[in-house]
This record gives sequence, structure tokens and C-alpha cells, in this order.
Amino acid sequence: MIQWDKLTQALERRGFAVSRFATGREAADYLDGKLDGRTIGMGGSVTLQELGLYERLAAHNTVYWHWSAQGPEARAAARTAQVYLTSANALAETGEIFNIDGHGNRVAATLDGHESVYFVVGANKIAPDAQAALSRARNVAGPKNAQRLGRRTPCAARGDRCYDCDSPERICGVLVTLWRKPVGIPCAEVVLVEEELGY
Ligand code: SF4
Repeated sequence: MIQWDKLTQALERRGFAVSRFATGREAADYLDGKLDGRTIGMGGSVTLQELGLYERLAAHNTVYWHWSAQGPEARAAARTAQVYLTSANALAETGEIFNIDGHGNRVAATLDGHESVYFVVGANKIAPDAQAALSRARNVAGPKNAQRLGRRTPCAARGDRCYDCDSPERICGVLVTLWRKPVGIPCAEVVLVEEELGY
């Protein structure tokens, strides 16, 4: 049972703004209403994809997303956007946010260079403490993403856990733990969703 109030207080103590919604649809409506006329970069994220945020936001913002028809060049443009949207691989109820990345663009964007960053996080990403959240990022999100990408890694083949592999197709290159809102990001908000989103 997720302790939503405890999580909200922990995130606020760490400098994050927090909003919370019962459904992904409501969270998407919130972001669609809040972001208008901005330049927005989006990280590779099944959560953002499931919410249809690219299509909605691109109707009235300038959005850069390398998962759209724009292709990989959008990564460079996203670096200069005012706003950045991503999810998290795991979030601890004690407030730490974990993200593992291969390319590095998604995690770098959460550290510096944007006026505001939004983390959209579904209930399935939330773990009781930092140790459990890190384990989730490595042993749940990692294998599922390797499977999604069709990588020849032991985690994708077996789908059970991370093997800290030396595969040339390894997707995990960088781990970023946000203990607090980075000083280089003026406003960081965690958008909590009481539904499963992404993985
Ligand atoms: S390090 Fe290798 S085995 Fe572990 S999740 Fe990443 S790709 Fe899979």
C-alpha cells in the first residue's frame, strides 16, 4: 500500500513540487493545461507515450522528442528546451528518484539546463525505500526496457532480473539518483499518478 502523503511530504522536503492524480488521463490534462507556448523536450519514456503527451502538447507548444517522427536529431534540440518531461525508473517513498540511462540525454536533462522539469510517475514505479527503489530500477525497469528494445542481453532473454551484464547491447550506462531538486533546475515537479504507467 503506497503511503501517498508520506511520499508527497518527502518530495517537498527535498525541494520538489508535487501534484497527484487518480488517473493518467487527469495527469495528461493537467500538463496539457499548464504548458502552453513553451519549448519542450521529452525523454524516451513509455509513460509519456502511454499518456499521448507528445501529440497533445505539440498542438500548442514546440516539442522535441526523439521517439517521434523527428528522429534522433530531436535529442540535441531537446537540450535547449525551456521545459523537460520524463518519468523515473523508480521513486522511493522517502523521496529519492532513480533513473538509469544508456545514452545519457534523459538523465542529464534532469540535472541542469531547463527552466522546469516534470517527472510523471505511475504507482508501479514507487517502492518503500531507496534500496527497494534502486532494486526496482535495475531488476524491473532494466529488463523490461531491454526486452522492449529487442536487445540480446541476459535480462531480456530471461526477463527476471539484472545480470550486470557485459553485453555489447547493454542498455544501462548511467545511474542518476536525485536526493534533492538540483540547484540548476529552478522548478522540478513530480506528477504522481495512482495508476500503473510505463515500466
Ligand atoms: S545491466 Fe545488462 S542485464 Fe542489467 S538490466 Fe542492464 S542490460 Fe539488463
